Amino acid sequence: MNDNYVAPNGAAYALKIATPSPEVLQRRLKSGIYNYDIDQLQKRCSKCRDHWPADSEFFFAEKCSADGLSEWYKACYKDWRYPKGRKAAVDASAPLPSAPAVAHDSATQ
Ligand SMILES: [Zn+2]
Repeated sequence: MNDNYVAPNGAAYALKIATPSPEVLQRRLKSGIYNYDIDQLQKRCSKCRDHWPADSEFFFAEKCSADGLSEWYKACYKDWRYPKGRKAAVDASAPLPSAPAVAHDSATQ
């Protein structure tokens, strides 16, 4: 079965395959965004320009896009969203250290 994939966190998702219209498919095969590797449609990530299988294991499902998948490969999106890793992003949301105390008026008199 190839209808599901399991994310690293163990959650299972129904696999979504790219669903370009015939026109979009032909145009993208011609422009190099798509290619076929052993019958598997591959999609080029518009960020790193590498080709990855055109399904939701590698690209985010995106209803409004021409083929139902995001432009960027998941790992590229993750690198962009969390350049220092996800943990760093979480740490960054922690409360900032309190600002240095402003000299009180009485201290300058
Ligand atoms: Zn990429």
